[in-house]
Amino acid sequence: MPSEQTLAELFTKGLLPIRQGALFRQALAPNSSPRLPDRVAGMLFGLAIGDALGNTSEGMLPAERRRCHGETTDYLPNRYAEGRAVGLPSDDTQLAFWTLERLLADGCLDPDHVARAFTANGRIFGIGGAVREFLANVKERGLPWFKAGAESAGNGALMRIAPVVIPHLRNGGTGLWADAVIAALITHRDSMSIASCVAFCGMLTDLMRMTAPPPPEWWTARFVELAGPLEATRYSPRGGAFTAFHGTLAEFVAEVVPAALREGLSAVEACNRWYSGAYLMETVPSVLFILARDGHDPEQAIIRAVNDTKDNDTIATIVGAAVGALHGQQALPPPLARWPPRPHPRPRRRRPRAGTGGGGKAVPGSALRGADGGLDGCSIRL
Ligand SMILES: [Mg+2]
Repeated sequence: MPSEQTLAELFTKGLLPIRQGALFRQALAPNSSPRLPDRVAGMLFGLAIGDALGNTSEGMLPAERRRCHGETTDYLPNRYAEGRAVGLPSDDTQLAFWTLERLLADGCLDPDHVARAFTANGRIFGIGGAVREFLANVKERGLPWFKAGAESAGNGALMRIAPVVIPHLRNGGTGLWADAVIAALITHRDSMSIASCVAFCGMLTDLMRMTAPPPPEWWTARFVELAGPLEATRYSPRGGAFTAFHGTLAEFVAEVVPAALREGLSAVEACNRWYSGAYLMETVPSVLFILARDGHDPEQAIIRAVNDTKDNDTIATIVGAAVGALHGQQALPPPLARWPPRPHPRPRRRRPRAGTGGGGKAVPGSALRGADGGLDGCSIRL
């Protein structure tokens, strides 16, 4: 079933925790730029690089991380690579590239196939609580993809959403919005999560059209414009300086991010102010602030996300996807270009035939290669 029909049915049946905004009728313009493949490769490499740089020190407070590692600018020793300092992806990249593999195999988003890939592709490294709940809902409770997502406002859908834009870049149209909602819903049945995923997808397509970095105020303003009308739930921060706030994520970022930029705060000062964990009320302002401050410099933006936030692999994943979409793979500076993450050193199993929906053990690196050279052979045209 086409995604827009699925979306209409989900709304009719009351299965979506968001508002039915006018955005869903706004058509994206086609992107005919010859640089588009470079922008897509930049988005995918930026995502994987941010994840791989961050995941060896994920969850540490920035000050504690700095005491242990100093300023992280390259890969740290990785326990899954016998302690060698190589870049290995974690759940962020795995779920994003499993989505990409399904898009390439199916030629469009088939949420049932994506959900099956998430449940059947093997170990998910650094898995979060909401994705774990989604897996249990599918495997143990037998729930269908549209009912299996956790009611969680964590960042686990936003971290993997970027590849969803790929089928819609060349031709434009309204289909991206439905795909973004549906892909987001698979693991997280939450207003703030779905609205964030839709907004981020829209921003990625904007970034791939730009010929120069946007002004700092664009990042928050565009997020608010896209996410705000969709949000149906009010939330409160769980800590930091804004615990009295109660409202939508769009209202929150509009209040705190521009103010922090006006004050000239550093990334670590700003992110400590609202906290920088996996809760979207922490992740999204951190992402928007870092991009507003350093989005013109892809390496610096990724490094700040890796060093100055708590859920640093996911925040660097999202920042990396954005700066990669804006600057393209060729514009990533030499140190970043030498950082393509390698797959986990696990034996590869034989993969099922395309179209069976079985997934098999996907190796993120293989999807990276597919993104680099494999898009021509399928119905997704770049
Ligand atoms: Mg991770």
